Amino acid sequence: MKRIPYGRQHITEEDIQAVNDVLRSDYLTQGPKIAEFEKAFAEYEGSEYAVAVSGGTAALHLSALALNIQPGDKIITTPITFVATANCVRYCGGEVVFSDIDPETYLLDIGKVRQLLQSSPKGTYKGIIPVDFAGRAVDLEALRNLADEFGLWIIEDATHAPGGFFTDNRRQKQLCGNGNFADLATFSFHPVKHITTGEGGMITTNNEKLYLRLRNLRTHGIQQNHNLNQKKDGIWYYEMQELGFNYRMTDVAAALGLSQLKRADAGLERRKEIAALYEKAFAGKPFIRRLPEINEGHAYHLYIAEFENRDGLINHLRKNNIMAQVHYIPVHLMPYYQQFGWKEDDMPVAENYYRHCLSLPVYSTLTDEEQSFVIKTIEEFYA
Ligand SMILES: *Cc1c(COP(=O)(O)O)cnc(C)c1O
Repeated sequence: MKRIPYGRQHITEEDIQAVNDVLRSDYLTQGPKIAEFEKAFAEYEGSEYAVAVSGGTAALHLSALALNIQPGDKIITTPITFVATANCVRYCGGEVVFSDIDPETYLLDIGKVRQLLQSSPKGTYKGIIPVDFAGRAVDLEALRNLADEFGLWIIEDATHAPGGFFTDNRRQKQLCGNGNFADLATFSFHPVKHITTGEGGMITTNNEKLYLRLRNLRTHGIQQNHNLNQKKDGIWYYEMQELGFNYRMTDVAAALGLSQLKRADAGLERRKEIAALYEKAFAGKPFIRRLPEINEGHAYHLYIAEFENRDGLINHLRKNNIMAQVHYIPVHLMPYYQQFGWKEDDMPVAENYYRHCLSLPVYSTLTDEEQSFVIKTIEEFYA
């Protein structure tokens, strides 16, 4: 059996053709494909606006800048995420405050966030960055209500959940990143994510002011709307009004993203099929500590189960060329974050999860034979 990763891209001839076409065109960057991709992505997630950027981390950094995180500002996030979620706060000098996860959903425990907010004077915290972890959508309606009570903004790290959704109080589907509840939402197009542009990212929002600011910040802080320049020296004139970055996506990447987006729904369906097969194979098995809760809007970026003797299992799988992975090492235990006083036992639910969790292969081109081999290899380990 050839190497089976936990996630990988799916590139078709059509994708290659789309990239080829851009390479033969006049614009490799700052051309028409960016706006086309932004429009199509906003439509896909149901948001008003989308801003394409060079990566998911760039999307988080620009979001943090657009919401004016200042040195010392306290921002709440989950310890079970990729480090970039927390790091965007640090880029602006803010203070990351971790809050523990719910043991069933692995998402930020809203009850614990409430306790945290209630235990300090109002105004102590500025914002909250929930993560649609593994592809499971955060209940942003509940989180928005809480955020409003305490005057917080929300950046939804929706990297794992394009196409994912939760159901609101009126039984309406609310797509991740649709901008109805969060101020900003971020996505990544790294090859292990649902759709890829090589490196790339997107920010979605329904807030026009934030949208326009993000566009300026993406290009060095240069005002993109020339009518808003303070001077009018001539047609060559441009004006840098604040400190921004070059976080642009290339047209080559945007063309790949556009082509990939056409297959996003098909990819999502395939992920759901794979998840259902794992569920069927493992339900009730004594070596399973917990399977993911069945959830209609789950986008299954990752299929994570909790196993007895996880460390033994991962070694056995790796020996069989199955690259199962651990997502994630709790961020508060990273040496970088320990310097701020975070330590073992601060987040008991997250830490217990970390000891048992394992991400099994799930991606649209995983074949039935490959998945059967994964399941058989797991059963063989416990037999
Ligand atoms: C991948 C990932 C990111 C970072 O995205 P890049 O495109 O790799 O910069 C941020 N947050 C989460 C939850 C991720 O999984």
